[in-house]
Amino acid sequence: MKYQVLVDLYESLGATAKRLQKIQLIGDFLKTAPEGVLEESILLMQGRVFPSWDERKIGMAAKLVVKALQTATGADKSAVEWMWKKTGDLGDAAEQLIEKKKQATLVTRELDVKRLFSNIQKLAALEGEGTVAAKVQLVAELLTSATPKEAKYVIRTILEELRVGVGEGNLRDALVWAFFGKELGLSYDREEHAVAMDNKEKYQEVLGAIQQAYDLTNDFSLVVNKARSGGLAALKSLGIRIFTPLKVMLALKVDSIEEGFERCGKPCAVEFKLDGFRIQIHKEGKGIKLFTRRLEEVTAQFPDVVDYVRDHVRGKSFILDSEAAGFDKKSKKYLPFQSIGQRIRRKYDIEQTAKDFPVEVNLFDILYFEGRTLLHTPFAERRRLLASLVDNIPRKMVVVRQLVTEKEKEAEKFYKESLKAGNEGVMFKTLDAPYKPGARVGHMVKMKPVMETLDLVIVGAEWGEGKRAQWLSSFTLACIDGQGTFREIGKMGTGIKEKEDLSEKGDDAEGEGVTFEQLTNELKPLIIGKGGKEVTVRPKIVVEVHYEEIQKSPTYSSGFALRFPRLVRLRADRAPEECSTLEMVEQLFAGQKKGKSIAEKEK
Ligand code: AMP
Repeated sequence: MKYQVLVDLYESLGATAKRLQKIQLIGDFLKTAPEGVLEESILLMQGRVFPSWDERKIGMAAKLVVKALQTATGADKSAVEWMWKKTGDLGDAAEQLIEKKKQATLVTRELDVKRLFSNIQKLAALEGEGTVAAKVQLVAELLTSATPKEAKYVIRTILEELRVGVGEGNLRDALVWAFFGKELGLSYDREEHAVAMDNKEKYQEVLGAIQQAYDLTNDFSLVVNKARSGGLAALKSLGIRIFTPLKVMLALKVDSIEEGFERCGKPCAVEFKLDGFRIQIHKEGKGIKLFTRRLEEVTAQFPDVVDYVRDHVRGKSFILDSEAAGFDKKSKKYLPFQSIGQRIRRKYDIEQTAKDFPVEVNLFDILYFEGRTLLHTPFAERRRLLASLVDNIPRKMVVVRQLVTEKEKEAEKFYKESLKAGNEGVMFKTLDAPYKPGARVGHMVKMKPVMETLDLVIVGAEWGEGKRAQWLSSFTLACIDGQGTFREIGKMGTGIKEKEDLSEKGDDAEGEGVTFEQLTNELKPLIIGKGGKEVTVRPKIVVEVHYEEIQKSPTYSSGFALRFPRLVRLRADRAPEECSTLEMVEQLFAGQKKGKSIAEKEK
């Protein structure tokens, strides 16, 4: 298939702001796209060449794209950079530069989807000496056979900046319209919800089957192929595939023990909620693979966990759900997530890092065992099976602490015990509930203490390094004292996203996803002083910040420092003078000490 077909789709999608129209356009494409390029096309439409769970990245720097444009068009560096500046987007710059060039030469080859796709994938695989030249060459080659419009989208794809409105939600809806539209009596000139009301049950059934097929396989082209060839029955026949991660089940939040029971029934299971990160464990024969909740593979980063699974869980094939919690090497006490987060991205010194930042794997569910799917098996039964397979070895691998009760007093005691052990809170789980991949469900809910946050003003920042060099990446925070002076209280670099990831919107109800780019753009005009990598900014931007603890500190002018500050959201509704006061900080600090001494007495 010619790349032009996809480009036409992108252009049509860009020309309408209406969701239903977009869905129709995507649906029409899914109906007619040749089977052989479905997989590539669906990924490309979402701006990627690897599935979301594949950790490979295209990794092409903008400056290499500039070089490739020079090679492909014969323009010199300053001409390319001038065009980039003028258009503000390298894709647009590519379109214009190729346009100029094409007036002078004839296009010789047509760009087809398979070639484009495999060449972009190759970019990710290039490593070692000569990489830069090879990358530039590959991209230049694509550009020489591209039309100006194609060049625009090739560049945006390569820079992982293609945003044409094709996310998981729209793809799923497009599939309903394309393959079940007739059966359901859907028509494009009617409101979606009006149509759904006519045939609600069937509509829900179709939507549910598509969603489930996708949540289990994470392969949209497979789902489309099934729907195309065998309709609903074929979709329903899709099941778990070992070594392909399935989406994890997510929890809703409750504010009290009472509400926990209301949601999950009496009796229900109450479990320790550890503050670590989720690991989905797959095993078949001798093979073991680990995935994060975002479905990234992290097997290499956790050789210790692989060992525990091999040595302490019985069974030939299984999929387990777990939380890996970090703990202090000496005191053996649990540590907050931030302290072990770095293990996830680690590429070198892995063995040593595993020793320095050990984790305890807390298993809490089993989704598949010896060839059998357990998603519809009641939770209590899954838990019994899990417990029968695992040797509990504290600070290595355990089945998570659980209490089955119908008494609020008992649950309350258990909750306190969990907090005292350094955990985040508890989970409530309905005993006879299924496991629902990808869903935020009401039969598994979390309860943690009300989060303390402060509204603080950004008064300084620091330019980042490496990948983050063009962004401000560490932010100095301040509260305000009785005289109206801003007093520094710490530096924050977490809770901010690298990139706006459209596919993940809606997955997590919390956090608004402020990016480094966004913060940098807001702060740049406010810069009033520079010194090396550090800048001082006019106090204007207020942010809500979560922290683990307030500590006394001589480092900052407030006399306090926040431990593990993390951005919750921007507070555009607050003036800097309305930020948290030093007096509030002092009170919170005093309250914290009181809380601690009560906890100590209870020991
Ligand atoms: P949250 O991240 O606040 O939405 O809380 C849900 C997360 O808690 C899950 O995604 C798990 O990573 C984690 N978690 C910790 N302990 C448990 C547990 N016992 N059962 C389920 N999830 C747990």
